[in-house]
Amino acid sequence: MPKKIVRTDEEWRNMLDPVQYRILRQHGTEPAFSGRYWDTKAPGVYLCAGCGQELFDAKTKYDSGTGWPSFWTPIDSDRVETETDRSYGMTRIEAHCSRCGSHLGHVFPDGPQPSGQRYCMNSASLKLEEREE
Ligand code: FE
Repeated sequence: MPKKIVRTDEEWRNMLDPVQYRILRQHGTEPAFSGRYWDTKAPGVYLCAGCGQELFDAKTKYDSGTGWPSFWTPIDSDRVETETDRSYGMTRIEAHCSRCGSHLGHVFPDGPQPSGQRYCMNSASLKLEEREE
């Protein structure tokens, strides 16, 4: 497993912008079609905006029609951890970075094959490092 990164709430507030802080550290969600990556098709790797861990390869990104960047798998299963989220009267699978614990989005069982999973992420939780194919 990657080495954990632990920061105090004050450290997070100082290093993230207010939108990122609300999403990454307070489980917020950006409005659909508002983030910077929902329609991005550039090749590269999506890093955690909280700690830089490589989370998703752009090759696994697909157009889910939801207005959030969506992937069918993380780069490695140990990069993204999940837990049951029962907030807002729904039961959903919450996803967070395994290294720094930052909230990324949710996972739904309606993705494309081969995984059948939809990792529905917030753009604010990600940072695209563009790389040539
Ligand atoms: Fe992280």
